[in-house]
Amino acid sequence: MGRAGSTVAARKRREAAPPGYERLDAEVPVLYASRLAGKARSLSGYLAQGYRVLGRILSVEPPRIIAYLVAGEDWKRAPRDNACPYPPGLPYFTRSVEPPALVLPEELSTVFRPRTTATLPLTVWHELAHAFLLGREVVRTPAWLGEFVPQAASAAVARRAGLPLEEHLSRIERQPGFTVRSFRAPAGAGDQMSFQNLLLLLGAAALEEFGEDFLRRIFYALWEEDEIVDEERAEKLLGAALGGGGREWLVSRPEFQEDSP
Ligand SMILES: [Zn+2]
Repeated sequence: MGRAGSTVAARKRREAAPPGYERLDAEVPVLYASRLAGKARSLSGYLAQGYRVLGRILSVEPPRIIAYLVAGEDWKRAPRDNACPYPPGLPYFTRSVEPPALVLPEELSTVFRPRTTATLPLTVWHELAHAFLLGREVVRTPAWLGEFVPQAASAAVARRAGLPLEEHLSRIERQPGFTVRSFRAPAGAGDQMSFQNLLLLLGAAALEEFGEDFLRRIFYALWEEDEIVDEERAEKLLGAALGGGGREWLVSRPEFQEDSP
């Protein structure tokens, strides 16, 4: 989930699906194991929805990407940036192939929680938002900002798609023992999830307070930065993108405190 900005492999392979994979053509084509045809269709629907909505919200030409729906037994052969396979069940975005790819597992890992009808689409849109952001060069930022952006973007798509986002949010643990700024990697999978969930709460609250235009502003702000963004700069950029009173609102949020409550 937070791996999207890692180094791009020097040599890119063309579409590298394991043998026997079929292709579902759409704005985001899906390559899938043939026994997963049903899942490929619902995934294709989420991708189309996210692709169009994000393109509209961000007023940007959507990046040319592809999705792989990978069967459990093929996970080790899925395209990726590093030599070692990633933990099973965790979706990711990779630029190691051309076009760049969203890699989605047959089943989401049990670390994804809460489990509601919104869990899978939110996860797909999160990775899709990484793909949009990485459509242009992005400098390094604090982890909370790099993951806040796709979480807020996925919440924005969910709102437009009429998903039961409130119910999903109501099942999130609000005090996991850290805040988005005191969270430190490396952390266990459970804590990583709690970190992402705090960012989803913060993103949904920001959409409620400021509307969805801040997403376009923060994407462009990040594209315009050419030096590493430190903590203070990150807070300033997001505060400004939110709009009038944005920074004050941000520092008042429980998820954003320096230390856990
Ligand atoms: Zn992520």
